[in-house]
Amino acid sequence: MGQTAKTVRENRTITVDFQDRSTYFQLMHEGKAFVECVFAFLLALGFQLKHKASCRRSGCLTRQSPYTRVRLGGLTIWRIQCTSCKAVFTVWPHCVLRYRRMRPDVARQALMATHGGLSLEWCATICNISPMALYRLICALGQQSLVAVLTRCALPLPVYLLADEKHSRCLSARVSLPTIVSGRVIWHLGYSDGKSAVAFTASYGEFQRAALEHEPSYQVQGALIDGFDSTTKSMRTLFPGARLGYCLRHALHKLPDKLIGLAAPVRKGLRAKFHTLLHRCRQRNSLRGVALGQRLRRFADHITATVGEDHGERVRHWFQDKKAGWYAVLEDPRMPAMSTGLDQAHNAIDRKLFMMKGFHHPGGSQAAFLTGLAHLSNLIPYQRRALNAALCGVEVEGGRVPTLDWMLNLQILTSGGFR
Ligand SMILES: [Zn+2]
Repeated sequence: MGQTAKTVRENRTITVDFQDRSTYFQLMHEGKAFVECVFAFLLALGFQLKHKASCRRSGCLTRQSPYTRVRLGGLTIWRIQCTSCKAVFTVWPHCVLRYRRMRPDVARQALMATHGGLSLEWCATICNISPMALYRLICALGQQSLVAVLTRCALPLPVYLLADEKHSRCLSARVSLPTIVSGRVIWHLGYSDGKSAVAFTASYGEFQRAALEHEPSYQVQGALIDGFDSTTKSMRTLFPGARLGYCLRHALHKLPDKLIGLAAPVRKGLRAKFHTLLHRCRQRNSLRGVALGQRLRRFADHITATVGEDHGERVRHWFQDKKAGWYAVLEDPRMPAMSTGLDQAHNAIDRKLFMMKGFHHPGGSQAAFLTGLAHLSNLIPYQRRALNAALCGVEVEGGRVPTLDWMLNLQILTSGGFR
């Protein structure tokens, strides 16, 4: 009867660096040399091809019939096949973007400009392409998950992570961007039109699924969050064994809200005092938690004494509420304490989302677009004057990238044919 189960076609496209355009054109006519060149490249990269599940991987590669794409100026694209499992890989030379008319050097400029903060429209104008072409290019990069690309760079899955959502607007809709960061690297950038625990669990669950697929024994030891209820619940659901800490910088920002009606200089003074308190606690290597409890009590007493009983009470209640999350940060030195890196990433991405308005249509692929932006953020090197100049986030975190060229890295790493 009506069997409608569709077999999902595996994307087995690989990007190969032939160093020089002319090398590619030369190898086009030499089957054996072509396969050898591809093989040498794969060996140097240390990547494995995504064979079929049944493959013993002892098979050799052989070149298959070419197919010509008129769109790309008559460039011949070859495919190679595994002689054992018959999986077919399409080999895209570094000098073309797969399925795209855009030249890599044009794409390089446009992507760099986007990453640098220019709107899609401006990037497109400068590079003489259409904004839609740029949008589609970023979406195409976002087809590969962040976990897949980052683990290809030999980064271990994050044992301690930061999770937070950016609340934003897309046209008239309120949206949230649940994000997972570790150090300088974005591991997840989701898109959710709700901010319930269920919605966040679904989004963060995508990261968890991808991570478990890569490493079935993966476990999160600690997560830093801002204490928002839905985030807390989603983390508890997904990572029940993880220590949940509350961001200390969020705490600093929140304190003035608890001192309603006081003059700004007074609130500022108390905030500075609170800052010193948290800072001192973090510096002490032993008994950090114990010191915190004592200092918080004294600080609340100080507020009572200086600005009044009701303020003191409000702050004391707030401390009661959040204390456990702050202890969690102080008790484990491996826990991240502040979400600065994540906030920076969020602010940059929020500008992009704002720019995306023109493209926010029901059939749009917001998730792919955001993932594409996150790839850019992970793989484009920091500017010359920055602290980690010429390195990208992945490298700063100790990961390896295939080549010295970020654009080529992006092309290679987001190919679907590598394991
Ligand atoms: Zn095979």
